[in-house]
Amino acid sequence: MAITEKDKKTAHLLLQKLTLEEKIHMIHGNGLFETGAVPRLGIPALKMTDGPMGVRREYEKDRWLPVGLSDDFVTYLPSNSAIAATWNRHLAHRCGQVLGAETRGRGKDVVLAPGINIKRSPLCGRNFEYMSEDPYLTAQQCVPLIQGIQENDVAACVKHFALNNQERNRLWVNVEAEERALREIYFPAFEAAAKEAGVLTVMGAYNLVRGIRCCENSYLLDAVLREEWGFEGATVSDWGGILRTKESAMVGMDLEMSIYSNFDEYFFAEPLLEAMRNGEIPEEVVDAKVFHVLCVMSALHMLKENGKSSVGKCRKSGSYNASEHRAAALETARESIVLLKNEEHILPLSKDMDRLLVVGCNADTLHAGGGGSAEIRALYEISPLLGLKMQLGGNTDIAFMPGYYVPENQGQQENWQEDSLSDRGGTTAKEEIVTEEQQRMRQKLLEEAVQLAKEYKHVIFVGGLNHQHDLEDQDRRDMKLPYGQDALIDALLKANPNTVLVMCAGSPVDMEAFADRAKAIVWNWYAGAEGGNALAEVLLGKVNPSGKLPETFPKDFKDCSAHCIGEFGKSDTTVYKEGIFVGYRYYDTYDVPVRYPFGHGLSYTEFAYRDLKLSVTKEGEHALERVTALLYVKNTGKYRGKEIVQLYVSKTDSIVERPKKELKGYEKIELLPGEEKIVKIEFDVSALSYWEEKDGCMQVEVGEYEVQIGASSADIRVRDVFTIAV
Ligand code: BGC
Repeated sequence: MAITEKDKKTAHLLLQKLTLEEKIHMIHGNGLFETGAVPRLGIPALKMTDGPMGVRREYEKDRWLPVGLSDDFVTYLPSNSAIAATWNRHLAHRCGQVLGAETRGRGKDVVLAPGINIKRSPLCGRNFEYMSEDPYLTAQQCVPLIQGIQENDVAACVKHFALNNQERNRLWVNVEAEERALREIYFPAFEAAAKEAGVLTVMGAYNLVRGIRCCENSYLLDAVLREEWGFEGATVSDWGGILRTKESAMVGMDLEMSIYSNFDEYFFAEPLLEAMRNGEIPEEVVDAKVFHVLCVMSALHMLKENGKSSVGKCRKSGSYNASEHRAAALETARESIVLLKNEEHILPLSKDMDRLLVVGCNADTLHAGGGGSAEIRALYEISPLLGLKMQLGGNTDIAFMPGYYVPENQGQQENWQEDSLSDRGGTTAKEEIVTEEQQRMRQKLLEEAVQLAKEYKHVIFVGGLNHQHDLEDQDRRDMKLPYGQDALIDALLKANPNTVLVMCAGSPVDMEAFADRAKAIVWNWYAGAEGGNALAEVLLGKVNPSGKLPETFPKDFKDCSAHCIGEFGKSDTTVYKEGIFVGYRYYDTYDVPVRYPFGHGLSYTEFAYRDLKLSVTKEGEHALERVTALLYVKNTGKYRGKEIVQLYVSKTDSIVERPKKELKGYEKIELLPGEEKIVKIEFDVSALSYWEEKDGCMQVEVGEYEVQIGASSADIRVRDVFTIAV
């Protein structure tokens, strides 16, 4: 959905009729999630709501108090990490459609989603809301998601622009990164959102980039976003991201939103009016902001057309909690699950088990209500335990033991956002302190579970993190599993070496203590309303797992380039010294052993790859060269299954330092046992470009490149070379 000439004309005409006061009223919060309306001209308030895992619950207009009625329960969608792990563009689109329809169904105009910051470190508290460490995968999955949202006459709002990769001191931390890293790693998803998806709104991040606050940053908001990428929608500050009137007003920041209820005192309210009246800020500056907001409103059919309200006529009404929304949540959850390890074909488990022991609090934990602004009131959420019981029915006796102990949430209160800008906007999690009493409790729960595990043939452990750890406003201290889970897993594996391990979390955890010994490990993210159902289907073989990791799982966070080369979590300035070597680009190039590589994910079946053929074509004189890869992929195993065929490109003789290889294409295909298909993956040579510092632009190097295609970044099956001529 792009802004059309008609939208611009409508916006222009209305702009002429607005008084200065009315214009000001439209560009700052007049409620915690809405702008001021101008009823005289039929201009409504722009109503916003958080995502990305669903439409956030209803808050009072001027207080961080949930309204608490029963009318804001919604479909709980898999997190962005889970959507990315499907590597399925179609499912990303469907999730977008659900989110858009539900946003509209709840009467809102903008959903503050998706979060598309790069996962630079496993410790960032908001990783679960983000997609990947790879810019291409993030762009490919976020574009259809945004399109799906916006098909519903609702604006998506990509966040947080830009380089918002840590929570600690998020309001004050300054990020220093070289231009090449911005262009090759941190910008591409935002660029794709603007250029390919036609995203209507962009959220300015809290942090500073090169000493300038993102919401005051002319380079980001004017030069890059508007001039280079041609963005014509509206920019919105993160809540409280504007701290000065003139500095934000004079750049391409359109809308000030915040966490306080003194709306008239917002920087874009009385202070801006004052600055205009005394000539410090010209009226054209405010006009441009109002124009952008009106363009977005027109694109969403919120404005009167020819004097008549279009609302209720051509504006979609949306819907929420529809059965097809649940179906989309289920299918996405199914494809997001990543089978990390499966020795001796331990999985799938047979449905004919007489009895099953399920251990671990996460089997019985509901996650939808946590995480920070991503929290939602889920209409329902199927836990792993419920999913297993639903799937297995009455013939299997399922016993549950918590196995570990989760102390009451001492973290976020219901109205946490009210204070979210104090303590400089975010912290690092405190060290886990275990009281003697808790230690006793742990030991007791562990012993009970382990005793039973000895007696059961089939044991499933469900652990990982929860939203006390995957949490906005707080980075993790390390990758350690909390609540003494390492000791429990160790004891369970000793008691029953066939124990299946399931991890539910939004960011990698340290599995060094047990990953080599465990026979089966399944990764389950925050998988939405149907997550438990999908998990049970995978464990019991009804669904063949087909997710792949959208990020590397390192052995320890200290191995990650943000920590061992660059800096992370600094309070004043964080320097991204690792440059473009983020995620697998670093581990791969510098031969750093990891626990599970980028793109890894097993299936109950096997796939064989053969006969890669590359061709380079050019249609028309000015067209870019296009590389086409054709290969055969065959299902050589016994189950029907889906494979994600990943295409990486490498240039070993490059004149610049480059990662060993980079993802440039992927396709997800489904094959019956014995079936073989031809897979086609194409890309423009512009995808091979790098940022040339000297000339200040992206450039494609001529010469030979190698295409490597495989089942993960570390499992390359076929290769071939092609040449880009001068
Ligand atoms: C978060 C945003 C969110 C906003 C509104 C901020 O704390 O950083 O992602 O959209 O609040 O709730």
